[in-house]
Amino acid sequence: MSTTDIELDALAVFSHPDDAELTVAGTLLKLKSLGYRTGVLDMTRGEMGTRGTPEGRAEEAREAARILKLDVRLNLEQPDGHVWLNEESRTDFVRVLRRYKPKVIFTSHWDDPHPDHAATARIVREGARLASMRRYDEEAGLAAVRVPAIAHAVFSRLVPPSFIVDVSDFVEEKMRAIRAHASQFYRADANEPETRISDKNFLQQIEWRMRYYGSLINAAAGEAFLVREALNVEDPLKLLTRPMNIYS
Ligand SMILES: [Zn+2]
Repeated sequence: MSTTDIELDALAVFSHPDDAELTVAGTLLKLKSLGYRTGVLDMTRGEMGTRGTPEGRAEEAREAARILKLDVRLNLEQPDGHVWLNEESRTDFVRVLRRYKPKVIFTSHWDDPHPDHAATARIVREGARLASMRRYDEEAGLAAVRVPAIAHAVFSRLVPPSFIVDVSDFVEEKMRAIRAHASQFYRADANEPETRISDKNFLQQIEWRMRYYGSLINAAAGEAFLVREALNVEDPLKLLTRPMNIYS
């Protein structure tokens, strides 16, 4: 991992090299358009994937990062399929937080059915707290940081979102960033084995999901998030006079 002085506003932390694109690419693009510094941290290189090679996937991730205009794309190089909340993963993650100092983190939900995704959410929650403790991993020589806010991406109907980001203007770019991971998704000429996400309908479903969450806020497309902590609102009028949908 390279060291740099870039301080990030938002960091998306997901398990596999295409997860951030599939989940929060619209929000990352929107934040970039608002002038914020954005980054993605992939927990693994996706080497257990049925399709593609780690080298090819790294190349695809770089291309997607270019489309998303990311300031940094990092990889924690945890073992794919074996992401665990342990001392090594926590410490490595704390070092990323202390180097890049993101104020907000987007990650998966702690009950995600994919064990890597659930473990990633737990590493994020514990690492965010530990990064603020001066004595934790003191030997690395990195200063403690304030605990960043954490927003978990919502996929399950059982999880009511805390907020939905209107990403109507970024649907095309998001889909382009997803398709940069060409080894993973449907191609008529592909001769690799089929997977759940290489099915022809998968990308269509990703878009429909964005359209559904958009409909909940009267927008053309949205990405939904859960924040476990209570939100501290400065101006309730400003918040509550934005477009809403009483049928949501
Ligand atoms: Zn994944």
